[in-house]
Amino acid sequence: MNWGRFVMALTKVMLDELEDAVRNVSDFPKEGIQFKDITPVLSDARLLDGCISHLVGKHSANTVDVVAGIDARGFIFGAAMARELSVGFVPIRKKGKLPWNTYEESYDLEYGSNTIAIHKDAVAEGQRVLLVDDLLATGGTASAAVNLLSRTGGNVVEAVFLIELDFLGGRSKLAHVPVRALLKY
Ligand code: AMP
Repeated sequence: MNWGRFVMALTKVMLDELEDAVRNVSDFPKEGIQFKDITPVLSDARLLDGCISHLVGKHSANTVDVVAGIDARGFIFGAAMARELSVGFVPIRKKGKLPWNTYEESYDLEYGSNTIAIHKDAVAEGQRVLLVDDLLATGGTASAAVNLLSRTGGNVVEAVFLIELDFLGGRSKLAHVPVRALLKY
């Protein structure tokens, strides 16, 4: 462990510090939305490190074979978590971004729909997957991601989020997957 990491380990980041750092931006990207801006967490080395540790939680390379992150903010956390766990990282991307053969899943948004995709060979049959995204709102994105992962043969051991917007009930769309969120609103 280098000196910087030693100091960080001594001053464990508390969840309320993460909560204080998340910035609420009203009416972005459109009127009525309370956007949770995580960039102040990302730009602070100690908070970022603590956030990754909390997201990894009790997992280890004995319980997880791969981390899957959802486009785009799930990539930031997911790759760092994978490195922490010494496992690989799998991106779940917006449709049309992955170059090889993909599975696709569509889900409804407030207006219209969205499609996400995964490479067909990204996860091997029976691999244990830790799924991560920054925020669970209505659950459409995360449940589509779980469906993609199960189509590859992966087994989602947990879906973790920095933030859960409790009042939107997204958890109910992930009924067959353990869900954990660090901060709830
Ligand atoms: P949902 O599919 O409704 O659960 O939405 C989750 C996705 O939309 C995540 O990838 C979030 O990054 C993004 N998202 C939804 N609502 C918000 C919000 N209020 N603040 C920030 N990001 C959000």
